[in-house]
Amino acid sequence: MSSRQRLCILGATGSIGISTLDVVSRHPARFEVVALTAHSRVAELKQLCLAHRPRYAVVENPVEAQILSAELRVAGVATEVLAGAHALSQVAALSDVDTVMAAIVGASGLAPTLAAVRAGKRVLLANKEALVMAGALFMAEVRLGGAQLLPIDSEHNAVFQSLPADYSGSMQDKGVRRILLTASGGPFRNTPLDQLRAVTPEQACAHPNWVMGRKISVDSATMMNKGLEVIEAHWLFRAPADRIEVLIHPQSIVHSLVEYCDGSVLAQLGNPDMRTPIAHALAYPERIETGVTPLDLLAIGQLNFERPDQRRFPCLPLAYRALLAEGSAPTVLNAANEVAVAAFLAGRLSFLKIAEVITAVLDRIPTSPLPDLEAVMGVDAEARAAAASCVADWT
Ligand code: NAD
Ligand code: MG
Repeated sequence: MSSRQRLCILGATGSIGISTLDVVSRHPARFEVVALTAHSRVAELKQLCLAHRPRYAVVENPVEAQILSAELRVAGVATEVLAGAHALSQVAALSDVDTVMAAIVGASGLAPTLAAVRAGKRVLLANKEALVMAGALFMAEVRLGGAQLLPIDSEHNAVFQSLPADYSGSMQDKGVRRILLTASGGPFRNTPLDQLRAVTPEQACAHPNWVMGRKISVDSATMMNKGLEVIEAHWLFRAPADRIEVLIHPQSIVHSLVEYCDGSVLAQLGNPDMRTPIAHALAYPERIETGVTPLDLLAIGQLNFERPDQRRFPCLPLAYRALLAEGSAPTVLNAANEVAVAAFLAGRLSFLKIAEVITAVLDRIPTSPLPDLEAVMGVDAEARAAAASCVADWT
């Protein structure tokens, strides 16, 4: 048996996937890449397979899978290339995988991430949408499957690092008063409100501090990303909504904080580079080199904090509303947001209409309990249809 940690990277061609492989490449004696998956960026996946020689690769389309398999064979790489959504869950649950990086964007990541959880893997969770849409079920499966869930989202990784090592049970048991999630405020923090109507996808994706995929970049611009993260923190740390506060911190140096009942506040700081939380989770509880530039506080000089303006960022209160409503409301919020953001990125919906679509869909679909995955997928589909019809009506 290999003594190296055997990895499956779901969403290997994405921003998180590439940062993960960057960290992994620095530690060949520690990590072995067993499976890499992509959706449509097959040429990029091919380059990753040539570099990392995984046993398995997964793409969406079966014909592209056959072509990739043949090309890799010619290059002397014996990767077995599988196709389709089912294959994602298959590689996430392989017996020769120890750790799964869940870095697919959006609801498509739920099934393979759950497969990894059910197989009792160490799951490094970047795919926050999976937890938002199916929180209670997801966490129940973590307990049942004996999986170890480690947060990759920089804020949640910071909270994890700032909580006591034996954190379990409730916040009060450990003397935790509040979780403070920081947010950069995105590219439109200071844009005059009357100009927001006309902002383009390119402007929304030009994040001041982080380089990320397009969907999460738009979520950062609307601050729905922070809303999803409030719900993510609720599930990961068993924190009630009124114990999770959001602060705008434009420098993105303090990645989040935990306030204790004795007045202590612990935080994790670092340059905004996802290789830090990725390496933390990959090596946990050890620490490894990442290539991240050391933090120079003297060069930064100031750390500022502001209260988020709810008129500028209406998606943030929408997420609190969904969290407080419980049941299917976060599933509806997430699905409506995915549809609205895709329409904005495709040039079919204006930026300000993203929050309006989500509000309309939350108003239209009554909250219901979610006893099983079938119910989650049913609500997800219903909310997507409702959001698509709003988009069609408003364009
Ligand atoms: P990205 O768009 O750069 O990459 C997404 C990956 O998912 C790609 O590999 C793509 O091939 C794959 N994918 C997309 N749709 C798919 C589908 N239907 N089936 C299978 N695979 C599919 O996104 P990203 O920025 O790397 O973000 C990934 C996840 O990590 C998101 O949930 C995001 O919220 C979260 N996250 C990202 C960052 C960041 O800095 N990028 C930080 C925190 C959390
Ligand atoms: Mg984050």
